[in-house]
Amino acid sequence: MSVETLEFQAETKRLLDLVINSIYTNKEIFLRELISNASDAIDKVHFESLTNHELLGDEKDFEIFVLPDKESKTITISDNGIGMTRGEVISNIGTIAKSGTRAFLEKIREQDKNTEQELIGQFGVGFYSAFIVADKVELITRKAGESSAVKWTSDGAGEYTLEDCEKDSRGTTIILHLKPEFCEGLETDFTNEQLVENLIKKYSDFIRYPIKMNFVEEDENKNQTVEVRTVNSMKPLWVRNKSEIKPEEYEEFFRQQFHEWEKPTEVFHTKAEGTLEYTALLCIPHHAPMNLYFSDYEAGLQLYSRHVFVMEHCTDFLPDYLRFIKGLVDSPDLPLNISREVLQQSREVKSIGKALEKYIFKQLEKMLKNDRKKYDAFWENFGKSIKIGIYNNSFDQKIKDELKELVMFQTSKQSNFSTFAEYVERMPASQQKIYCVAGTDEATISKMPQMELMRERDIEVIYLTDPVDEFAFEALQKYGDKEIQSITRENFELDDEEFKKGQNEVEELNKSNEQLLKDVKEAIGDEVFAVRLTSLLKSGAVCLATTAAGPSLSMEKTFAQMKNPFFKAMRILELNPNHEIFKKLVALHASGKDSDDFKDFCKLLYAQALLIEGIMPTNPVEVANKIAALMSK
Ligand code: ADP
Repeated sequence: MSVETLEFQAETKRLLDLVINSIYTNKEIFLRELISNASDAIDKVHFESLTNHELLGDEKDFEIFVLPDKESKTITISDNGIGMTRGEVISNIGTIAKSGTRAFLEKIREQDKNTEQELIGQFGVGFYSAFIVADKVELITRKAGESSAVKWTSDGAGEYTLEDCEKDSRGTTIILHLKPEFCEGLETDFTNEQLVENLIKKYSDFIRYPIKMNFVEEDENKNQTVEVRTVNSMKPLWVRNKSEIKPEEYEEFFRQQFHEWEKPTEVFHTKAEGTLEYTALLCIPHHAPMNLYFSDYEAGLQLYSRHVFVMEHCTDFLPDYLRFIKGLVDSPDLPLNISREVLQQSREVKSIGKALEKYIFKQLEKMLKNDRKKYDAFWENFGKSIKIGIYNNSFDQKIKDELKELVMFQTSKQSNFSTFAEYVERMPASQQKIYCVAGTDEATISKMPQMELMRERDIEVIYLTDPVDEFAFEALQKYGDKEIQSITRENFELDDEEFKKGQNEVEELNKSNEQLLKDVKEAIGDEVFAVRLTSLLKSGAVCLATTAAGPSLSMEKTFAQMKNPFFKAMRILELNPNHEIFKKLVALHASGKDSDDFKDFCKLLYAQALLIEGIMPTNPVEVANKIAALMSK
């Protein structure tokens, strides 16, 4: 039989190096990692056997064996799960495919040596954790439905070998040759049956397949018999009574089942009885995964029927905007061998989903009311999702009405998050509308020329700094009876008399300068929809507004990023009639609207307005040349 020697992928080598050399405080975690892999492998073979009835053959009972052995200084973990082919061993064990592990490596790369130790404890390193305690690992595996088996061996030092071998039945057996320090001591002797049994009870009790161990019994005549015992209770956590479950148990559960390495922000455990029966165990993770809003993120809840695993990532329960929720639904009302297509049509699934959506909303509302610090953290991580929910439900007033109460934002007066209710509470009696402004960040927005007026009037303005904000706010339109108004839309107005007076005056000016403004627009070209004078500007000379309807400038930027160049904002160039520069414009116009000086002046006014908005003029070199020419005059 030929032995093939292969090298680990570079990333894997680095990970192994970290695992082997780091002083893991919890040496024992390797056991729960390997048991959890074994349980996943059984899930997979079980799932496949639902459609491939021959797959299980005679071996229909699923089990995991953990065998510590003092003599050989080994601990063996074996399962009768799906197993792996030679190719799968190479791609699963020799490389790092899992995004969580990759993210872990990235994070570690940013840290210095000291925090490395801490970090490694927060993440699971899966199979590789075997090398925390072993100096040599053998993995013998046979894929379900195949007759050949393969043996993988490595000391974790950069290479591994593969060879064909014999194995009687399907599944995977992993033999850990323990380092000497892990064959002794009270808490570190992993050849000690009692210790291993306790660890299984501690970490893997709710694994839903029996985890078996051999126990040697001795009678009074010193005759030894081996008794096989199941160590775990197998009672799924969600079946137990909520009041009996400790927070650490939930934590451990999400760690094992959903690879949540940090403590979830919130755990929801809910049961429904009656016409529709189900239990849901859900969590809001501690952090938003990096790919949450990308297509490679796998949303969806695990589905169980009478505690038996049916499906991973069932996306039919929760609406897409709640994709950050992790967890499972267990319902006896759903059949075991249900296909994805049938599931999509299922009335039961829809009703459970509706109920869960409502439940999650209520829980979030409660969190907002009772634990603001926690809610703030939730909002930082997942606020975007709620805003996407509002936008996605633009035509569903009921959902919008619910979700808007969960929305938070920063404002020109509060760097802490505020809700709409709090903003309205702070509004002076004279203020009728809710004002908002979109921009890349707080610093840029606060310097926008339109903000000067708002500061002068002491009016609080909501900052919309996430691209999705404006879409959500436009979908809302109102909060209660208060209209939401962007201060960069052409229909912007304040309610006070002074503002109205200023507007009337500027309207007069717009009329008397009609020809001038027309000529300015002509000089700039089609990029602007209109040019007009405004009463909004204080010290600023120019600004850009957009039409009351249609995309705004920041929406246009978002569309452009999505490679959709067709949604353009209708730009309105607004000029300050009280600024020196306006007088100059009038004078230049008087000396001839076709002169290059007038045209260049107009183009530069527009370029300034673009720069204020953080938009690059389409012809930056030309703009720079014109500025240079003007400065040399
Ligand atoms: P994870 O389990 O988190 O994906 P691991 O490093 O623990 O990461 O395992 C990598 C892959 O190796 C698994 O996704 C699985 O495909 C395969 N694997 C690990 N253990 C087993 C096992 N006991 N039986 C079958 N496949 C396994």
